Amino acid sequence: MARAGHSVAVFERRERIGGAAVSETDVWPGYTVSTASYVCSLLDPWLVEELGLRAHGLSYYRKDPYAFTPLQDGRSLLLGADPASNAREIAAFDARDVAGLDGYVERTNRLGRALFDSFSDDEPRFDRFDSDTRAILCGSAAELVERYVATPVLQAELVNDGLIGTYLGPRDPGTGYVLAHHLAGRVLGVQGAWAFVRGGMGSVSQALASAATAHGAEIFREAAVTRIVTDHDGAARGIDTKFGVVRASAVVSNAHPRTTFLELLDADVERPLRDKLQAWRSVGPSLKLNLALGELPNFTCRPGTNSQPHHHATIHVAPSIDYLQKAYEDARTGGESEEPLIECFLQTPTDASLAPPGKHILAIFAQYFPYDRPGGWTEKKRETAADAIVAILARYAPNLPGAIEHRQVLAPPELESRFGLLGGHIFHGELLPGQIYEDRFATRTPVRNLYLCGSGAHPGGCVSGFPGKRAARTILRDKWPR
Ligand SMILES: Cc1cc2nc3c(=O)[nH]c(=O)nc-3n(C[C@H](O)[C@H](O)[C@H](O)COP(=O)(O)OP(=O)(O)OC[C@H]3O[C@@H](n4cnc5c(N)ncnc54)[C@H](O)[C@@H]3O)c2cc1C
Repeated sequence: MARAGHSVAVFERRERIGGAAVSETDVWPGYTVSTASYVCSLLDPWLVEELGLRAHGLSYYRKDPYAFTPLQDGRSLLLGADPASNAREIAAFDARDVAGLDGYVERTNRLGRALFDSFSDDEPRFDRFDSDTRAILCGSAAELVERYVATPVLQAELVNDGLIGTYLGPRDPGTGYVLAHHLAGRVLGVQGAWAFVRGGMGSVSQALASAATAHGAEIFREAAVTRIVTDHDGAARGIDTKFGVVRASAVVSNAHPRTTFLELLDADVERPLRDKLQAWRSVGPSLKLNLALGELPNFTCRPGTNSQPHHHATIHVAPSIDYLQKAYEDARTGGESEEPLIECFLQTPTDASLAPPGKHILAIFAQYFPYDRPGGWTEKKRETAADAIVAILARYAPNLPGAIEHRQVLAPPELESRFGLLGGHIFHGELLPGQIYEDRFATRTPVRNLYLCGSGAHPGGCVSGFPGKRAARTILRDKWPR
């Protein structure tokens, strides 16, 4: 919008921009920590080119191998970009699954492409998909995976992406969509691939900020918006900040929709939007545990603390779909998982700039630790959850507890207070049928001049840029039609 000649100002509550896509340097001395999001896939390649983000410092590289699961019987499964290596790894369990994985990748690539092509839609509609596709998306991630492969650990690795951020288990309807959403990206031109961003996820936000300011946009930090100001006719006319009221022809919010309409907007919201805000499912089950390590995890099944291929992959611990379903059921019935979903990332073996020499960061994403657990969250419960996660990982890498030099635990309440993620939900609300496409919040809101540009709008969460691109396009069309 700045490039189109308009006056643009961004107001961020925190001392740094980026929301949940930040690289924070003040967590521990000498470390740069992607405190929330950590891997990139869905970032719109069109946006990267259009805004020249590479010239503004964005650089990413493929996460390869992409998935590793150690097992307690000493075996393990490591998958990556090399089909021959994958075939060897899978054949050690069940040779029939080599072709099964090919079939799965072919089908999920088609699904991912279909989703990607819909992410820029101005008027998103779920019925743009054929009935077979809709059935898969409304079904469970387990059903989709089990159609193609039979090895439990392979099934668990594949189904995992259907659960990220979601307070459901792999056998629950709708997780098919979450799985496809995570395979919709085409970073570096490869459908479904994921990448590490050099310098951590904050480099995406920094590149966007640099491109914006180069075109004249102004960015104000530690500048919370306390009110969206409406006129007597109900239209948004500006925002209230520590600088006073800033008037604008359009107000664009990427805060959670409930924050936007129920906390900030100074007018009452009418039905049916009010009902939708109240019914919006936004209870987050995800906990982020960031560890600073003195050495790499030494896995019993693939020994060594020297950097090896499995250290570059997402590390999972689930041996089967049933394990993950139980993790969810435990939380639903007892408040948290006894044996949680755990996925970990070590970016430092491929980007040493993020830690002091010889040191590493293990970023752990775990579920299910729901925001609304019975009895609420206390510091003790947070630390107990972190201890339990470390103890589980230590079954596979016994040196881990002794290698930890610092730790940061961000349970759902900390995700809420630190990043403004209401309910601790990493995507501003579930990405499930009933909350996607026409059922997500519209970019153009019922309040004239007020628009949404964050994850509450289509196509929802992940570091993608799509909601912002759609918002800019809508505003330009509404306000300055050609
Ligand atoms: C732990 C975790 C792990 C994740 N992992 C990944 C991942 O690996 N890859 C991926 O693609 N996605 C991941 N995500 C999701 C992704 O980070 C989010 O979907 C994405 O950041 C959403 O961007 P957004 O612009 O919608 O909102 P946010 O990132 O939530 O940003 C909203 C911003 O608004 C600010 N704000 C709120 N209220 C006000 C106010 N009143 N005044 C001023 N500013 C305000 C907030 O401070 C924040 O900076 C993860 C998220 C979390 C929390």
